[in-house]
Amino acid sequence: NKRVPQYLERGVDVKFTDVAGLGKIRLELEEIVKFFTHGEVYRRRGVKIPGGIAFLSMLLLYFMHTAVVFKILQGGILLCGPPGVGKTLLAKAVAGEAGVNFFSISASQFVEIYVGVGASRVRGLYQEAKENAPSVVFIDELDAVGRERGLIKGSGGQERDATLNQLLVCLDGFEGRGNVITIAATNRPDILDPALVRPGRFDRKIYIPKPGLIGRTEILKVHARKKPMAEDIDYMAVSGMTEGMVGAELANIIEVAAINMMREERPEITTDDLLQAAQIEERGTLDRKDRSM
Ligand code: ATP
Repeated sequence: NKRVPQYLERGVDVKFTDVAGLGKIRLELEEIVKFFTHGEVYRRRGVKIPGGIAFLSMLLLYFMHTAVVFKILQGGILLCGPPGVGKTLLAKAVAGEAGVNFFSISASQFVEIYVGVGASRVRGLYQEAKENAPSVVFIDELDAVGRERGLIKGSGGQERDATLNQLLVCLDGFEGRGNVITIAATNRPDILDPALVRPGRFDRKIYIPKPGLIGRTEILKVHARKKPMAEDIDYMAVSGMTEGMVGAELANIIEVAAINMMREERPEITTDDLLQAAQIEERGTLDRKDRSM
C-alpha cells in the first residue's frame, strides 16, 4: 500500500517555451534536462544494436553518461534572484521538459517550533521523491531554513539546525546518485549557511536578474499567446513603460488588460489596454513598496 505523495505537484506541464527572456540561463537548465533524458536514449539504443557492438556502445555511453552526470550534478542547483522573475517556473520547466515528477515545498514550511518536525518533513519529501523517481525536488525560499547558523537567535535555532542538518544529509545522499535532483530558490544567497553552498551541495548558482527591455517584450508575448490580441500590438511601447518589472507583474498586465477588454465587450486586447494595465500595475508596485517601508 503506497502512500499518497504529499508534496507531489500533479500535472506540471511547463515547457521552456513558457519561460521567456532568460537567454543563456535557459541553456544551462537544458543541460539538466539532458541528464534525465540521457539514460532513456541510452537504454533504447542498447536494445536496438545486437551483440558485441551493443556491449561496446553501452560501455562508451556509460562513461559518457557518468561524465555528464558528474559534471552537471554533483550538487543541487540554486536559482537566485528577486521575487517573481520565474524561478519556480523554471524549475517546473525542467521537470516538464524531462517528463519527470515535480515535488515542491517552501522551506518556510520546514521551520517549526518543535524540534524534529522540520527534519521529518525533509525526510518525507526526499522519501517521496525517491519512491517516485525520476523527480525534481524544488525547495522555495531556501534561506528560511538555510540561513547561516550564527544569524539565528533564541530557541528556534535548535530546530532550524536539526532541519538544516537533515537537508544536508538528504542532499549528500541523493545528488548525482539516484534520479532525484534538487533545485532550490532564494533571493538571499548571501545569507546562506556555508555548509549549503560547499562543493557537492548547492555549488551551482544561477542568477536570474530582472528582465531588460527585450526580455520584458518576450515575457509579454508569451503571456499574450493565450489571449485574443489585436494584430498591431506595440509590445516595445509597453515594455518601455515597465522598467524594473518582473515576469509576475508582466503576466498580471496581460490579465488586467484582458479584464478591461471583457468589461468593454470588445473582441481583442489593444495596445491601449496594455498601457493602461501597465499604469495600474506600476501604481500597485509603488503602493506595495510604500507599505513595506
Ligand atoms: P518567488 O520568488 O516570489 O517565488 P519566482 O521567481 O519563483 O517568485 P514565479 O513564481 O516563477 O517567480 O513567477 C510567477 C509567475 O510570473 C509565473 O507563474 C509566470 O506566470 C510569470 N513569470 C515570471 N517570470 C517569467 C518568465 N521569465 N517568463 C514567463 N513568465 C514569467
